[in-house]
Amino acid sequence: MIIPVFHCCSLETYLTNPEIEWPSQCPFCGKNLHKHDSYRRRVESTTVCARISIQRLECVPCNQVFSCLFEFLNPYKLLAANVSDEYVRCFVEDQQTLRETAWSNADELLPETSLSRVQRAVAEAAEASGQVLLELREQIAPDVATIACEAVCAPQSGKPHALCVLTEIFVVLRRHFLLDTEKMLVAYRRLALGFRFPTPHSLKHALF
Ligand SMILES: [Zn+2]
Repeated sequence: MIIPVFHCCSLETYLTNPEIEWPSQCPFCGKNLHKHDSYRRRVESTTVCARISIQRLECVPCNQVFSCLFEFLNPYKLLAANVSDEYVRCFVEDQQTLRETAWSNADELLPETSLSRVQRAVAEAAEASGQVLLELREQIAPDVATIACEAVCAPQSGKPHALCVLTEIFVVLRRHFLLDTEKMLVAYRRLALGFRFPTPHSLKHALF
């Protein structure tokens, strides 16, 4: 099981400030967590590739071990989540093409490598859009059901269903966070984490 850690939202901030306050209480029983072991994994951003240590914590009464995952990590994916989220935002909100999105982000990769990263990020976001929409509806905007339905039912847009849903997610978030792109992306990230929060309450707490 995974506990998200909101210590820092990018690989770069983690590398400059690796002092971490690990979660101290079990999300289920509230008892103290103890250090169990750790493992290392790779992660890439636009500027750096690093191996970082993932701490695992144990709750003895629940007989449960939790991996502490920073929010800039996507489970089983190499690319940092804040990078893929920004690709998705550029493609969806700024209505850039995949190529424009790939080449407007300063990195030192070959153009084809950037392009394939953007393609993958957008495809994965589109695939997850239904789940994100559900979370959005539960946690932020109960009226979003109607909004999304309108978008999906607008065949003249010519967009695939999942991209319409993704577009509406960003419309709702932008409205909710009053045009603050940074806050909006943080909320999107927490809604779109590649794993479930241990409890619904912990997602609500993370969003507000
Ligand atoms: Zn416990």
